[in-house]
Amino acid sequence: MWVRKRIDIGGLDIATGLVRCALPADQGRVTERVARLWAHGDDVLVCLSVRTGFDLLLQAVRFPRGSHLLMSAINIGDMVRIVEHHGLVPVPVDVEPSTMAPRVGAMARAITPAARGLVVAHLFGGRVAMRPIAELARRHGLMVIEDCAQAFDGGFRGHPEADVSMFSFGPIKTSTALGGAVIRVGDRQLLGRMRSLHQGYPSQTRVMYLRRLLKYVGIKGLSTRLTLRAVAQLFTLLKVDYDRVAGSAARGFAGRDFFDRIRRQPSPVLLAVLERRLRRFDAFQLCLQQRKAARLLELLGDHVACPGVASQPHTFWVFPILVDNPAELAGRLREAGFDATRQHSLTVIPAPAEGPAWEAKTASAIMERIVYLPLYPQMPDVEIERMAQIVTRAARRADRRCFESLAAGDVPRG
Ligand SMILES: *Cc1c(COP(=O)(O)O)cnc(C)c1O
Repeated sequence: MWVRKRIDIGGLDIATGLVRCALPADQGRVTERVARLWAHGDDVLVCLSVRTGFDLLLQAVRFPRGSHLLMSAINIGDMVRIVEHHGLVPVPVDVEPSTMAPRVGAMARAITPAARGLVVAHLFGGRVAMRPIAELARRHGLMVIEDCAQAFDGGFRGHPEADVSMFSFGPIKTSTALGGAVIRVGDRQLLGRMRSLHQGYPSQTRVMYLRRLLKYVGIKGLSTRLTLRAVAQLFTLLKVDYDRVAGSAARGFAGRDFFDRIRRQPSPVLLAVLERRLRRFDAFQLCLQQRKAARLLELLGDHVACPGVASQPHTFWVFPILVDNPAELAGRLREAGFDATRQHSLTVIPAPAEGPAWEAKTASAIMERIVYLPLYPQMPDVEIERMAQIVTRAARRADRRCFESLAAGDVPRG
């Protein structure tokens, strides 16, 4: 079976991590080396995860309680949870299906005197055009925060007009170090406050990171084609929902004590692995991925909609499609050896009670219909062709008008 998502780290990277666990390391120096790999170096905070950095940002920025933070209507649940934890109100901004960018018109309508900032999520590997968004934000004095967790491409270091850009190297992300994040912050004072809060955090211990390395040795071992098929069959036999279990296996910080878990400094071993990943970024693999995606798009033609496909540049970190029979299609694909999934950690941000008109209908329509197809350089073209054939035969096309009519209702008024 073709696994839904490959963990993007090599055996040598993991081996390096294991060896480094036994060697002494200088936290300050390795942090500095990672920071220097970023364009300006001294404008970044290197931390355990994007969630850690975002939580630090909201602690340090001290928006008044009840302030609004406009957000791309789709993000991971934890990001929303962090906003709420700081007494702020997340306000969804509906997205444009072709690019997954927050709509500027919807954004303009959601801005009230309570608005303080905007969180733009670059979704699925594509990149949102920031210029018009940043312009609108400037006019209203909003802080522009970019969530680049899904959009790292080896070169991208954050849009110059964003105030904050956050990059994740968590387990399912491109060029992962099985953790770690780089947060670029333009305002030096704000960055200083974030750094001093960060310095008060306890450190992730080597043993914690070692456990993580070993867990992913296991997951990588289980995700080879043959073992994966055996595991999926075993789960079916035991009547366990394979899709759900596989979906939650690769998620960090699960369960209770969420804030205790994210409020830690990264282990120097994690940082050493991150440095290695950044220095040896594999642009060739990325290029292959883009080529495979282009081929699949060509094969799928008009049969299904691919959300976000029009954004540029695009790494195709994941390859989602929208269909009217997502569960059925995912089942068919899995029977044929393609571990397609509807599982993801993304949620649609609900409209707050005070603004029911901000409900993100398009985002909900997208999430109800989404299926992620497995796609990566290791898949030979014949297999991609076979997968595309199943999709074009079995997919009930999501009614385009469903998205267009919603889009038409989104024209700014007044
Ligand atoms: C993965 C992800 C995050 C969280 O990144 P961590 O480094 O794991 O905290 C935030 N936002 C989006 C859109 C993500 O995909």
